[in-house]
Amino acid sequence: MEKYTPDCAPAPGSWLELDEQERISLVETYHRVARLKLPNVTAHAAFHVIVENQIALNLEPVVRAMHRLRNQGLSRHDAIHAISSVAAEHLFDILKTERNENPEASQASYYAAVERLTAAHWHKGEP
Ligand SMILES: [Zn+2]
Repeated sequence: MEKYTPDCAPAPGSWLELDEQERISLVETYHRVARLKLPNVTAHAAFHVIVENQIALNLEPVVRAMHRLRNQGLSRHDAIHAISSVAAEHLFDILKTERNENPEASQASYYAAVERLTAAHWHKGEP
């Protein structure tokens, strides 16, 4: 896999055989070439990678959210951003509350938040 384009899903096999750093740098390259203005392209890319990994691994709540958001009119790239905003918030929660002492509960609450995500929430900026 030589190129990443958020608007088409990478083949799960080729995506997963890359290491994490290669995935991040492919995503960074896409955003740099597209000249998208981002406060921190590496952090942004890392969240793309988290979501792409979950889709490539076929995590159902995330796969369902992707379909739902696309049906609601978001581009694949925006849907990635919407899901990664939930992932970011979730991560922040974990860091804040040390809920990671109970990884199962923490994963369940992430999945629940992803299941609630809709394009309307995202447009309103309150994912
Ligand atoms: Zn992006």
